[in-house]
Amino acid sequence: MEVPLLDLRAQYATIKEQVLAGISEVLDSQVCIGGPKVLELEQKIAAASDCRFGVGVSSGTDALLNCLMSLGVEAGDEVITTPFTFFATVGCIARAGAKPVLVDIDPRTYNIDPNQIEVAVTRRTKAIIPVHLFGQMADMDPIMAVARRYKLAVIEDAAQSITSTYKGRKAGSIGKAGCFSFFPSKNLGGIGDGGMVVTNDEALYQRLLLLRNHGAEPKYYHKFIGANFRLDPIQAVALLVKLPHLNDWSEARRRNAAYYNERFAGTAVQTPCISPDCQTIYNQYCIRVPRRDELVAHLKANKIGCEIYYPVPAHLQECFTYLGYSRGDFPAAEKAADEILALPVYPELTRAMQDAVVDAILQFLG
Ligand SMILES: *Cc1c(COP(=O)(O)O)cnc(C)c1O
Repeated sequence: MEVPLLDLRAQYATIKEQVLAGISEVLDSQVCIGGPKVLELEQKIAAASDCRFGVGVSSGTDALLNCLMSLGVEAGDEVITTPFTFFATVGCIARAGAKPVLVDIDPRTYNIDPNQIEVAVTRRTKAIIPVHLFGQMADMDPIMAVARRYKLAVIEDAAQSITSTYKGRKAGSIGKAGCFSFFPSKNLGGIGDGGMVVTNDEALYQRLLLLRNHGAEPKYYHKFIGANFRLDPIQAVALLVKLPHLNDWSEARRRNAAYYNERFAGTAVQTPCISPDCQTIYNQYCIRVPRRDELVAHLKANKIGCEIYYPVPAHLQECFTYLGYSRGDFPAAEKAADEILALPVYPELTRAMQDAVVDAILQFLG
């Protein structure tokens, strides 16, 4: 049986009429940038995240960059984050002109190890970006404690974790701001690129709005240098159709994960470790296995979709050699990169498909 890693067409089939009607409404209005649909989405995502404000932006990457710029992070500053993340987290720190300072992960959750943050703080440190990887939030209490001690801003990279919780608190609502991505493969995926920043800080909210639009206030008068970080209403209407389904879809992902956990129990497959403090939304279901690369070849041959998130930690990326890190600096991140593998977990997956995935893996492991 063929099982894709993700099947966006299955989900689209269930909402197609509403999405097309929404797009048609936008086109008829010819409000093609910003407007009431973007505002409605901002309010609804902020509310779903227990935050006062939302700012729709052009991508998850631009959510992070706008945040850093709006907080005044610049050349000479340092920002602490994890090497085990999608490139954008670390890339945005560099693009803001600051120096990324990396801290190894907790090997169980793959999220930044809070116990290793304090030794990385210097006089130049301005912010910490914990990444809520694969749908599970980072251990926020000790991270916020370090941030308070040194007066650092915390920006939550919640691109993979919209509406997930830590001790009952929503992703994006604990730090100074939270960043979401609407890249199609995220739990709340658009029909193209999009993103959002949420915050409870009104001054930051105003600055994010300004910098989203080249810092213009009033039009053609620029007190600050911003960029074009705008979200278009075609994305907003598609996301407004999807948003009411998000909790059900996340629940279906958790059910699928529970079934995998059951079937992998007692085998050589290491299943995800979810902290009792967290409710994950399983943007990815990642296992760890011996002989991972051989298993990938075996699954590909059996038409089972899988993906390595992420094969190269940030400190070993060619573009970051100037940071002076080398292999061995972050052993937990390096080991995860060598052993991790994401399996299909999307909501529309059937039990028969999951059985095909598990059987192929167990057959390989013997
Ligand atoms: C997807 C992702 C981003 C970037 O989002 P885009 O919308 O693709 O720009 C940033 N950080 C993490 C952890 C992500 O998974």
